[in-house]
Amino acid sequence: MTDVQAAPALTTITVRNPADGSVVGSVPIDDADTVAAKARALRAAQPEWEALGPEDRKPWLLAMQDWILDHAEHLAEVLQSETGKPRTEASIEAPLCADLLKYWAGHAQKFLADRHPAAHSPLMKVKRLTTVHRPFPVVGLIIPWNFPLLNVALDGIAPLAAGAAVLLKPSEVTPLSSVEFARGWAEIGAPPVLSLTTGYADTGAAVIANSDCVHFTGSTATGRKVAVACAGRLIPCTLELGGKDPAIVLADADLDRAAAGIAWGGMFNSGQVCVSVERVYVEAPVYDAFVAKLTDEVGRLRQGKDDAHYRFDVGAMATPAQRDIVARHVDAAVAAGARVTTGGKPTGVGTFFEPTVLADVDQSMTCISEETFGPTLPVVKVADEEEAIRLANDSSYGLSASVWTADLARAQRIARRLDAGAVNINDVLSNGFSFALPMPGWKDSGIGSRHGGADGILKYCRPQAITAPRIPTQKREINWYPYSRAKTKVFSGVIRLAAAKGVRRLGLRPRR
Ligand code: NAD
Repeated sequence: MTDVQAAPALTTITVRNPADGSVVGSVPIDDADTVAAKARALRAAQPEWEALGPEDRKPWLLAMQDWILDHAEHLAEVLQSETGKPRTEASIEAPLCADLLKYWAGHAQKFLADRHPAAHSPLMKVKRLTTVHRPFPVVGLIIPWNFPLLNVALDGIAPLAAGAAVLLKPSEVTPLSSVEFARGWAEIGAPPVLSLTTGYADTGAAVIANSDCVHFTGSTATGRKVAVACAGRLIPCTLELGGKDPAIVLADADLDRAAAGIAWGGMFNSGQVCVSVERVYVEAPVYDAFVAKLTDEVGRLRQGKDDAHYRFDVGAMATPAQRDIVARHVDAAVAAGARVTTGGKPTGVGTFFEPTVLADVDQSMTCISEETFGPTLPVVKVADEEEAIRLANDSSYGLSASVWTADLARAQRIARRLDAGAVNINDVLSNGFSFALPMPGWKDSGIGSRHGGADGILKYCRPQAITAPRIPTQKREINWYPYSRAKTKVFSGVIRLAAAKGVRRLGLRPRR
């Protein structure tokens, strides 16, 4: 017997502003039964939603677009309170959500339309062939904390537009924006095909256990677990995971633009973007000049808790753990011989870490080999283009990359040699804002792709093949029962005629 009593299980998550630690809200921790009940309710509502078809689902997406725009200020406040972002960065998520709603509302019908492929053989011309795209009934979405509202839209609107019901599990760090999104869906009176479930990993596991298809955006380590769990249930998943995106700066680049663009690409959202610039490879002749310009750009950034003031460029890190990873990478780089040219340490307030440039970095350092997900830009000197490509590809990740040069044809050639799901030429992050493009992660950065054109909605559908007669049918087909030698000769001979070429069509040996 012992007097020690088990601590009562937590039933709520307390959400804090990482910029100052203040409590900004709370959400319940859903257990497996609660998640299963939510999935059952979605399953009951989904057939009617699917039956509406894309044109009749469109008004709901457009009503949600209006709701988002009408509540943009409030949404910015909520997501700023749970992330510690500067106001500018908090303010862009709602308009981007509206843009995504408009995109899928406008394109779903065309993307989901039945296809009628040409018959592969003359024998099949007697059939009308149709491919139909039927949604998975319940799509599970598990998303991270870096863009609490935008991630919902990036991953959640396409399945709704496809006619699926969505079981949404936001990060435990930033659930409040998802609460707002779900509130909006209910307030516009839309059918109950979006359900929010909050909690930690166990809640995420329950989402997988109750879904028919899963999209996961998050870390590579969790993505592996999600893939294994989905494989166990034989359900498909797409994964968008971590990155370690290289920027290649060639000697002919516009160095002012490259420094300004890479500063933004590395520091935007405190570097907590899957497609952040995390490594910079610069050709030797311009290395010193580039490092000086980048240091100047990054050194001028204003950092702090912004509230509604639009005074700061760089905000807090989402969690103390994330800040500590950044500190570990910077300290290890310095210990191994790298030089801090600006920043280099936590500010000591909240989870802020100074925007940092590291020079004299080499490929062996952890700031190059591991995802940092923070406001650091390690810069490596390379001899030439070949070395830049080799080092850029020397990574387990392959999300995106950028190439900076005055020669666009050369940039196109380099892009096609980089092992990355996206390449931006003389720019950063722009693929992520181009909803018509896929956003695929290669290697440890993912499986399949996020959003992007027809593929971005068809991944939430099961293709269904339908054949129908084009000509009057007989009582029975020649290949049906009963079998006989004569019938077999006829129908296998006909298939052979269609399948073979030259004299082989007739089953004769070519003359020697
Ligand atoms: P994370 O993997 O820790 O968590 C992501 C989500 O998974 C959360 O909702 C979490 O509760 C849930 N989860 C955790 N364990 C789970 C389990 N066993 N089963 C099911 N769900 C589980 O990621 P994070 O820390 O929230 O986000 C940061 C990471 O996300 C970074 O590595 C970043 O690169 C990545 N990310 C990638 C993209 C992209 O598009 N490639 C976008 C944003 C973030």
